[in-house]
Amino acid sequence: MTGRQRRRAPPKAEPEYVPGSLLNWNGSEHWDYGGPQPCRYCEVPTQLRDSHGSHAHKTCAEDALAQQAADAAEAYHQDG
Ligand SMILES: [Zn+2]
Repeated sequence: MTGRQRRRAPPKAEPEYVPGSLLNWNGSEHWDYGGPQPCRYCEVPTQLRDSHGSHAHKTCAEDALAQQAADAAEAYHQDG
C-alpha cells in the first residue's frame, strides 16, 4: 500500500422535509392554558403556541417553515 488518494466526498443530498417531523411542541410552553386564540396563519382558534409565543397550529407553523426553507433554498441556488 503506497500513496494515499484523497477522494472527494460525494455531494450530500439535501434532506427532504417530512411534514410532522420538524417541530417538537411537547413542552408546556407550546400550550396556552388560558384558552384558544386565533392561529396566526389560518385564524382558526388553537391552544397551541409557536416558539415566539404566538398562537399557531403545529402544522401551520411547519408549513410556514417549509415554505421559508424552500424560499431560502431557491434564493441560494439562484446566487450560485
Ligand atoms: Zn392554523
